[in-house]
Amino acid sequence: MANTKIDWHARAKTLKIDGRAFIGGVRMPAAGGQTFECFSPIDGRKLADVASCQEVDINLAVACARTAFNDRRWAGLPPKTRKQVMIRFADLLIENAEELALLETLDMGKPISASFEGDVPASANTLRWFGEAIDKVYDEIAPTTESVLAMITREPVGVVGTIVPWNYPILMACWKIAPALVTGNSVVLKPSEKSPLTALRLGELALEAGIPAGVFNVVPGFGPDAGTPLAMHMDVDCIAFTGSTGVGKKIQIMAGQSNLKRAWCELGGKSPNIVFADCKDLDTAAAASAASIFYNQGESCNAPSRLLVERSIKDALVKKILAELKKYQPADPLDESTTMGALVDCGQMTNVLKYIASGKAQGAKLLAGGEQARAETGGFYISPTVFDEVTNEMTIAAEEIFGPVLSIIAFDTEEEAIKIANDTQYGLAAALWTQDISRAHLVAQRLRAGTVHINSYDEDDITVPFGGYKQSGNGRDKSLHALEKYTELKTTWIKLK
Ligand code: NAD
Repeated sequence: MANTKIDWHARAKTLKIDGRAFIGGVRMPAAGGQTFECFSPIDGRKLADVASCQEVDINLAVACARTAFNDRRWAGLPPKTRKQVMIRFADLLIENAEELALLETLDMGKPISASFEGDVPASANTLRWFGEAIDKVYDEIAPTTESVLAMITREPVGVVGTIVPWNYPILMACWKIAPALVTGNSVVLKPSEKSPLTALRLGELALEAGIPAGVFNVVPGFGPDAGTPLAMHMDVDCIAFTGSTGVGKKIQIMAGQSNLKRAWCELGGKSPNIVFADCKDLDTAAAASAASIFYNQGESCNAPSRLLVERSIKDALVKKILAELKKYQPADPLDESTTMGALVDCGQMTNVLKYIASGKAQGAKLLAGGEQARAETGGFYISPTVFDEVTNEMTIAAEEIFGPVLSIIAFDTEEEAIKIANDTQYGLAAALWTQDISRAHLVAQRLRAGTVHINSYDEDDITVPFGGYKQSGNGRDKSLHALEKYTELKTTWIKLK
């Protein structure tokens, strides 16, 4: 928890917000003058009018990106120069951390301590880590014969379009733009219409760091208006998308219907968290389970929203989890001691409340929460909600709620736990708690998920890939593997004799 002595309310009053797009290194309105109103979910206050980019604006941004790519103003720089610029970019995020954290919290509703100590430093670290990596990555020579040289090299794909969601706005943007930019691509970023503000500042900070104008463009707007023309664009070589599985499917179709651009999709989840009766430390399991589902108001793609617990320890674990809830009561997001903020908007709060109603209607037992909180603020808050006696067929167990709602499902055998865990369209993350090392390995192998945690849930590092199996998507953000998404593989044959 932050303890900065910053008066965030006072800072918020003096914050200047520019909602214009960032294209070709310049702030500009949408060509047709369209805007949308950006409201804060913490109290409903209006923050800014934001440019609502349309196809014409996307075309301009892509043209700027293409020109910048073709004249090699960025792609042609030595990796060590791109490294230095990316590190400067990271430094600028830290230098502007107060402003960025405030924008993120006001725009998206998460607690200021999470923005200031979590999202902004993690975003800077992403830029820095990929910057530092890029002059240490080597190409290959194939083991052919001595009369030829076959070089296998990686080259930037060209123009990358990226479309990101609202739940970790600046961090999701950086997971895309860092590996795309370091490899020499030009980028057009479309942030979510629900939280576009930090992305727009990223554009300016990139320019200030030395990323040449036109290389990095930010086009706020709605999905169908701005996202679709980007995904459909014939001059975009790769689309890197993070968002819901439903929209991810459309992105794949648009890639196929246009120029068969590479389409990388990081999508939703409904992650299982399995606690076996031989779990050594139920206190830690309860604390980690609650922290991971309630962090970020439950609006995390990898949140362990299904808690699978062996029946013999269920009552004990449930009691401990309920005791954890006092740590996650919604409060003022601009107070540094707050751990649970507002949901991103009224629509998201309404969706979550509908899921809660469906849980009750389908026979799940509501143990805690289940209702709107802090309505008097004009903001959109929901108390941490726990359902017991859930079955995997119920809607609350099958669909991604994307809110602070935990479903508890009892099981009797290891085989049953694996079956329930894998019985989902998603495969983003999973966890299991046991002190039996053989069981830990064997169950982990059988869980169909991109990340499996054993006896923890919150381990995280930029060095490891992040992404899903099944309808949680394809491709991976983070780690050196992310570079693969933004590079083409080229073979060059050289005849020696
Ligand atoms: P969303 O799919 O509604 O929107 C994501 C982005 O796509 C937004 O920028 C939106 O404007 C745009 N979009 C919407 N319709 C479009 C269209 N027809 N054409 C082009 N673009 C379009 O998702 P969301 O509600 O913003 O985010 C929540 C989802 O993101 C959840 O499902 C969550 O699990 C997922 N997510 C996944 C990861 C991951 O790494 N796997 C990370 C964060 C969030």
